[in-house]
Amino acid sequence: MTPIEKELLAANETYANGFGPKGQLPMPPARRFAILTCMDARLDPAAFAGLREGDAHVIRNAGGRASDDAIRSLVISHKLLGTDEWFVVHHTNCGMETFTDETMRALCARSLATAQLGPDGWRDVGAGPGSNEAEFVDWLTIRDQAESVVADVRRLRFHPLVPGDVTIHGYLYDVRTGRLTEVAAAARVGRADVAEAEAAQDAAHVPVEPAQPSA
Ligand code: ZN
Repeated sequence: MTPIEKELLAANETYANGFGPKGQLPMPPARRFAILTCMDARLDPAAFAGLREGDAHVIRNAGGRASDDAIRSLVISHKLLGTDEWFVVHHTNCGMETFTDETMRALCARSLATAQLGPDGWRDVGAGPGSNEAEFVDWLTIRDQAESVVADVRRLRFHPLVPGDVTIHGYLYDVRTGRLTEVAAAARVGRADVAEAEAAQDAAHVPVEPAQPSA
């Protein structure tokens, strides 16, 4: 057993001993909302959003991006488990701002060991071999925090599997203060607007018109 594993199981023992009535919670989130956010270790959605077990869905990945897999989870969250309000939360000082697809591809091509971040950016220090498989991954890096929030809220808003009456919020979390700030442009894009989203859905399903016979 590794030291970390031992610590984790000790913490779990304490937690399970105080579990009590939480064993009877229903599966659907009681507060009917979901948070999509970054995996960054400094972010604790339960703490910054006031969540208890059974309250909400939290979907996390690198950057908190609306990737295909995040969308898979959110669609299940709404379609099968009844959430109707989603929060996209990106944050200041995100690691996803420190590299590009090209950076990651070059690092992985050299070795699979943990790289180092210096004043000149990422540097690979592993012995190798690496792999070219990173060429086939869209790493969904972030150039601008607010822009990425808007892009992800927009992708969700106009996704054919996301109905117009799901409200989608876009926020930035500040790792220095713990405070959430709404991204105004994302709020405009994400608000529940049945007509707008339905129009987008219809647009995605416009049948191809047969060519008009020429006169
Ligand atoms: Zn991050």
